[in-house]
Amino acid sequence: MPLQEVVLAEPRGFCAGVDRAIEIVERALRKFGAPIYVRHEIVHNTYVVNDLKARGAVFIEDLAEVPPGATLVFSAHGVSRAVQQEARARGFQIFDATCPLVSKVHVEVAKLAQEGYEFLMIGHKGHPEVEGTMGQLDHGIHLIEDVDDVARVQPAQTDKLAVVTQTTLSVDDAAHILAAVRARFPQVREPKQQDICYATQNRQDAVKLLSPQVDVLIVVGSPTSSNSNRLRELAAKLGTPAYMVDSAAELQSAWFEGVTRVGLTAGASAPEVLVQQVLERIKALGATAVRRMEGVQETVKFPLPKGLRLGEAA
Ligand code: SF4
Repeated sequence: MPLQEVVLAEPRGFCAGVDRAIEIVERALRKFGAPIYVRHEIVHNTYVVNDLKARGAVFIEDLAEVPPGATLVFSAHGVSRAVQQEARARGFQIFDATCPLVSKVHVEVAKLAQEGYEFLMIGHKGHPEVEGTMGQLDHGIHLIEDVDDVARVQPAQTDKLAVVTQTTLSVDDAAHILAAVRARFPQVREPKQQDICYATQNRQDAVKLLSPQVDVLIVVGSPTSSNSNRLRELAAKLGTPAYMVDSAAELQSAWFEGVTRVGLTAGASAPEVLVQQVLERIKALGATAVRRMEGVQETVKFPLPKGLRLGEAA
């Protein structure tokens, strides 16, 4: 059977935190003019970063690269206390694009630390969100990447032990690790609502529904995007060949040989324009029908920081 149908996952692509972060940089560019400095990629997507660069955003990792008096935006992943303090000490005008759902985890860590808690953080080493959350305290947060780490970790005490997670983990892997944490530390305090965010959950749920209906799944997302990688892995675990592409140019016709139905989704930092370009390329390879799967309609929206809201004086 030749290639026939493309099924679009629902929901897919931008989440409320990514929308807000990009809008913060865009509004800062309009209000203050270029250059606007951004610490780390505002969101993990090559297209978004290149587009903002072309409009005058300058992406840096080290605050020493930012001139005095400049405007600086923190990325959606959040930053450590040390970075916040250094940015303030250098006198920058700061706009914080940290996703409010990441900030919520920071607040929880600060609050429980005051009460004497020590933390286990389930997450991926080196991811900026993990560095930002672990950097909310000078010490007392242990990184847990897998079940083996749960067996290895040696907290100083176990009476007051809390667990937090990165927002963009595999829901199933996190549940598995959390079960091991509970088994070793039955008194561990868990977040009232899980830290994995609604967008991660909804996009993974959609891939779970979609994968069995298609012969191959294409995920639009950049290699650095944690939640996009998790979508590809999830489909592969469910037995559906899955590929992640940063743009339509990366699609390979060999992936569609002997394939009738293609699933298409996008990570939370991947713009819809890329999805549409990928869709056009798959149609050019022979797909004749496009169908949208039924899915959760997301209505979450986060307010912009003061100084960048509509109607505020320039
Ligand atoms: S993926 Fe979740 S935590 Fe990350 S920016 Fe989007 S809503 Fe926020």
